Amino acid sequence: MKKITIVIDGPAGSGKSTVSQKLAKKLGYTYLDSGALYRSIALKASHKKVKSQNSQQLYRLCKNSIIAFKKKEGKQHVFLDHKDITQKIRTRKISLLASLYSKLPVVRKALLYQQQKLGKKGGMVAEGRDLGTVVFPKAELKFFLIASLKERAKRRYLELKEKFKKISLRHIEKEIQKRDKEDSKRALAPLKKAKDAISLDTTSLTIDQVVSRMYKEFLKRV
Ligand code: C5P
Repeated sequence: MKKITIVIDGPAGSGKSTVSQKLAKKLGYTYLDSGALYRSIALKASHKKVKSQNSQQLYRLCKNSIIAFKKKEGKQHVFLDHKDITQKIRTRKISLLASLYSKLPVVRKALLYQQQKLGKKGGMVAEGRDLGTVVFPKAELKFFLIASLKERAKRRYLELKEKFKKISLRHIEKEIQKRDKEDSKRALAPLKKAKDAISLDTTSLTIDQVVSRMYKEFLKRV
């Protein structure tokens, strides 16, 4: 069967990660979590105290960073300069910092090249904000996931409440809203539906229902 490129864009909490991984597994495709690349750079920049205004240092930092994805016990882990940073990049602080650094041309350029290199062979499900518009504009199948703010905040809350006992739903809602705003209004590669992307509102759909709709579209393309 022909191997195609499938992209899934959408705001935080719209269900991209879970459905992308499930769809990739079902199809035997590789999975690209582009957000993890931005999160890794944000983590390193904050450790090294590289300010977002310092383009030269940021350029060197991106150039000298090795970000890799490896499977461990069936789950995808993220490695930065050979260290497993899977958990470290999932904090709320890194979410907000990733949004800050991802606005910068120097960061986007470096990561664009890396993503396109990873996706060269096709047979990939890639998720993010600009995969359908900028990274893989020629992808054969594009989705844009949406869900109500309340539902997205609820999903994040359920994910995080085990780890952070004190967080409130309202607080998470505010953080998501802030990130959506930053990601949508930035000048470079903003969060936007590609013209040829299929919109899917996941507010009242289960993960399996979303994957099954995507699979139907996939079958039409191959
Ligand atoms: O998808 P995730 O929530 O892990 O992404 C973290 C942040 O990385 C986003 O809020 C966004 O600012 C940035 N990002 C991006 N372009 C992508 C993927 C993520 O700007 N393709």
